[in-house]
Amino acid sequence: MRKYIIMGPQGSGKGTQAKMLARDFDLVHISVGDIFRWHVQNRTKLGTKVQRYMKEGRLVPDEMVSEVVKWRLEIHDWRCGFVLDGFPRNAAQTEFFLENYDIDAVIAIELPEEAAIMRMQSRRLCSSCGLDYNLIQLRPKVPDVCDNCGGRLVPRPDDTPEAIRARLKDYREKTQPILDLLREKELIVRVDGTPPPDVVQAEMRQRLGLQVGVDELPETVGAPD
Ligand code: AMP
Repeated sequence: MRKYIIMGPQGSGKGTQAKMLARDFDLVHISVGDIFRWHVQNRTKLGTKVQRYMKEGRLVPDEMVSEVVKWRLEIHDWRCGFVLDGFPRNAAQTEFFLENYDIDAVIAIELPEEAAIMRMQSRRLCSSCGLDYNLIQLRPKVPDVCDNCGGRLVPRPDDTPEAIRARLKDYREKTQPILDLLREKELIVRVDGTPPPDVVQAEMRQRLGLQVGVDELPETVGAPD
């Protein structure tokens, strides 16, 4: 059983890295942001509550986040483990998590802020099927059109300059400090997020003591987030 948390500033590619890891090691990828986006898209009660926070790039209040994480982990649909992406993001969420769950490692992807901003500004999402693109690393075959379903590609609603600034500020001020707490518990595995996705993935696997080499990696999935 492998239970990992993946952390990193927005644009560091944590979603892409989590998907690559999950696919090859039969782990369930749990993205808290994706769960919230599903609720917003499907206009659920929770979706209505979290929409404003997300659009402005602010953190959703802890009670709602913990509720969603608890609900998701109680489904217990993994055989080999999970990669939790986007949680915890502050001290209260970290305490809640450490009190209630065991994990094997926290993967921290590091990326300078300027690079994170550039990646977020080039990110596109299919308005129809939700597939991620990146105009630098993972371009669609036809500009602005989804390769998968022909849907229109649009920027993420929370990738406006104001929301990007707000999210990076939150990461710097609220998420970064919890890395120190996790480091004390010797759970942190640091990885440089600057190189191409397969290189980042190879470094991550090596540090986690996992056996699959870079040349055995399948094509990259998804865009950096
Ligand atoms: P992400 O896809 O991880 O960038 O998350 C998108 C948005 O969902 C964030 O900007 C927050 O508004 C919200 N969100 C996701 N995870 C959390 C969390 N752990 N705590 C608070 N808000 C979150």
